[in-house]
Amino acid sequence: MSENKDPHVAQGVKFVYDFTEGNKDLKDLLGGKGANLAEMTNLGLPVPPGFTITTEACKVYLDSGEEPAALRDEVGAHLAALEKKMGKKLGQADDPLLVSVRSGAKFSMPGMMDTVLNIGLSDKSVQGLAKQAGDDRFAWDSYRRLIQMFGKTVLGVDGELFEDALEKAKQAKKVAVDTDLDAAELKKLVTRFKKIVKSEAGRDFPQDPREQMDLAIHAVFDSWNTERAKLYRRQERIPGDLGTAVNVCSMVFGNLGPDSGTGVAFTRDPASGQQGVYGDYLQNAQGEDVVAGIRNTVPLADLEQLDKKSYDQLMQIMETLETHYKDLCDIEFTIERGQLWMLQTRVGKRTAGAAFRIATQLVDQGLIDEAEALQRVNGAQLAQLMFPRFDEDAKVEQLGRGIAASPGAAVGKAVFDSYTAIKWSRSGEKVILIRRETNPDDLDGMIAAEGILTSRGGKTSHAAVVARGMGKTCVCGAEDLEVDTKRRRLTVNGHVVEEGDVVSIDGSTGKVYLGEVPVVPSPVVEYFEGRMHAGADDADELVKAVHRIMAYADRVRRLRVRANADNAEDALRARRFGAQGIGLCRTEHMFLGERREMVEHLILADTDEERENALKELLPLQKRDFVELFEAMDGLPVTVRLLDPPLHEFLPDITELSVRVALAESRKDANENDLRLLQAVHRLHEQNPMLGLRGVRLGLVIPGLFTMQVRAIAEAAAERKNAKGDPRAEIMIPLVGTVQELEIVREEAEQVIADVERATGVNLKLSLGTMIELPRAALTAGQIAEAAEFFSFGTNDLTQTVWGFSRDDVEASFFTAYLEKGIFGVSPFETIDKDGVGKLVRDAVAAGRATRPDLKLGVCGEHGGDPESVHFFHEVGLDYVSCSPFRIPVARLEAGRAASTSAGSDHR
Ligand code: PEP
Ligand code: MG
Repeated sequence: MSENKDPHVAQGVKFVYDFTEGNKDLKDLLGGKGANLAEMTNLGLPVPPGFTITTEACKVYLDSGEEPAALRDEVGAHLAALEKKMGKKLGQADDPLLVSVRSGAKFSMPGMMDTVLNIGLSDKSVQGLAKQAGDDRFAWDSYRRLIQMFGKTVLGVDGELFEDALEKAKQAKKVAVDTDLDAAELKKLVTRFKKIVKSEAGRDFPQDPREQMDLAIHAVFDSWNTERAKLYRRQERIPGDLGTAVNVCSMVFGNLGPDSGTGVAFTRDPASGQQGVYGDYLQNAQGEDVVAGIRNTVPLADLEQLDKKSYDQLMQIMETLETHYKDLCDIEFTIERGQLWMLQTRVGKRTAGAAFRIATQLVDQGLIDEAEALQRVNGAQLAQLMFPRFDEDAKVEQLGRGIAASPGAAVGKAVFDSYTAIKWSRSGEKVILIRRETNPDDLDGMIAAEGILTSRGGKTSHAAVVARGMGKTCVCGAEDLEVDTKRRRLTVNGHVVEEGDVVSIDGSTGKVYLGEVPVVPSPVVEYFEGRMHAGADDADELVKAVHRIMAYADRVRRLRVRANADNAEDALRARRFGAQGIGLCRTEHMFLGERREMVEHLILADTDEERENALKELLPLQKRDFVELFEAMDGLPVTVRLLDPPLHEFLPDITELSVRVALAESRKDANENDLRLLQAVHRLHEQNPMLGLRGVRLGLVIPGLFTMQVRAIAEAAAERKNAKGDPRAEIMIPLVGTVQELEIVREEAEQVIADVERATGVNLKLSLGTMIELPRAALTAGQIAEAAEFFSFGTNDLTQTVWGFSRDDVEASFFTAYLEKGIFGVSPFETIDKDGVGKLVRDAVAAGRATRPDLKLGVCGEHGGDPESVHFFHEVGLDYVSCSPFRIPVARLEAGRAASTSAGSDHR
């Protein structure tokens, strides 16, 4: 034997595993399909013998352009073993062993990669197959399928050429379906197909079975990197470097006559979770016929009549699989002349509602424990269950279906441009903005619309990204819809929808309906709101399941969950949803409406007296806000952030005001106040207001502003205490970059608090802390902690400043391009960028606690309600996350999931 120079061999790397050698936990190496075929084989289920080539082999091939040197021999050895087991050789002339070559990555990528069936057939062995099967037609049909699939996927021939030839053969014979072509016609078709291969691929269809197999294996490797596979991975956030495994499996045939067939089955209903017989069966067919929908399938239950023995065996296998995997499984099977074969199984996909129900059902069956049940659901599913939905019992007329890009149920009049969307919504109409695709110019129209519908683009299209960011319902890429923006109408299947016609879109399913479909509130929200009780006899099964899983999450989570809320109404809702306090009260929201004029007075004040008067006017109003808030959150912490945004935000728009003043001047009746206002607007105008005079900077240059707010908080707290309440206010200073800023504000605040305590005789116990939302604050967190009793990470501004991304502009302008190029899989404003922004958070946590071991730590940026980010904040050891009231249940659930996966590890 020649010396083998392959380093993999030297290292003992094994590239091929027999189905008897693997198991379900080897998905990284064997892919999902290979690992599960091995698992079923080892369970003693009827799996056609075969072997799996590892993802490692694929990676070597993709990196170097060549298969690992050892692979050929390893495949040879496994093939020889397979041939021995089957008692025939690959492509043997008188009785050929045939194999399928299928892709199978770690994560399922349906329809993305390649499969070649019937490898081993040639001009000679097709005769042998015909003799063995006693069926000429079957053999020639199998051969034509091989040449067709091989030609298309391995040799890159345009698939339509084969389809056209097949169509012509059917027309010539005046038959409607391929099964009506007889052996002689299929034989002719084989000759035709071979000619197509020769002329298109410039080579003959290979007659050597091993060459067929090797080429098919390479084609599967290559299919990992097709454009559609890459796009799918980006959308589903599957890493691009995993590679695919290749499964070589001996063929079994569902197309050998009426006692044969193929089907798919679920061990329980993937829509509701109910146990029962769910699936489809197609007699006398091969697997791809089911997917291609060339003939109508029958419900799986009908198999009982067609083939009782196989049906009973299948039911028993399904039970074995469910008990073994302890989860819903989906299955592909084939029956070859009355013999049942299992071709695939995996833990099946399910709807969000079914996920919760199945998890609790499995607990009740004793198959899994509560900790495992918690891992079987996730925050994205819970969020989906919280959107209002269309009434399932309503009569609907479906127009088409696109991609479910941003969940929710939206109803409105069809409009085809943003201008109309804005105009109509201003006059109180609900509208659905329909575009071929959207671009940044459509932003205002998207904001005005109830929902967005496009006929082009996928989950990362502009419409999808922006709508998700806004929490707006969106269906995109509904390709059947012909959108004609010029004529303001869309056409679908001969149906015309004009501007003003009502349409309904379901962003959770992608379905588009004509007319108004009634919307019902989500039962899960009714439950969180306390309007539906999980304990009631007639309680919805879903609500019961959600209740049980939430209770468990609450028991195990370490992170506390607070709300971002600025008024009593939101605070009360947050409390009902399970908030354990307010993590961010943005006081700027209290300065709008009729109070805006008072702020104008403050800004326009020329003298100290005028300024003090303006502040005095604001003080009682601020105080009332806080009294209400502290009452709503009695007994729980409320973090009040002092004013953050640049002052010009409280002044009129510079262009509008300039026009007004100019017009008035031309009429010579300019108003004194407007002139002063315009001057102030000019004075405060900034090129980059987000990086300008805001946050603590404002507090330092507008005397009395922050102290007025601190006084309002302190007096409100004193009032609540006197009323026997339990206010727990925390004062938070925004946009601090250096400890000196904080020290100055702190000293002034402490004086005010002491004043109020003296005047009221109440001991207030107010704590003072800061936001960490600038890189410099994070980098000097150790110093800042000297003057702060708590940190709250403002990851919105921190993301903006770490990346240099304007949070107001970039998502709508170039994020689509960034997502499409795979620069990131998700916007860093949505999910925390662990390596960059996250690193600063992690380091600031450590530095802050080194200075002050009892420093309280939280996050109040948008990331506080994002599932993946919650896990990160758990991991770095924050005390709480704070998010909008609606996202609180999601944060509770994910905090529970994070704690239960890292059980035993204490981060504090
Ligand atoms: C933040 O920056 O993350 C934050 C919570 O503050 P705001 O969004 O109000 O700037
Ligand atoms: Mg901020």
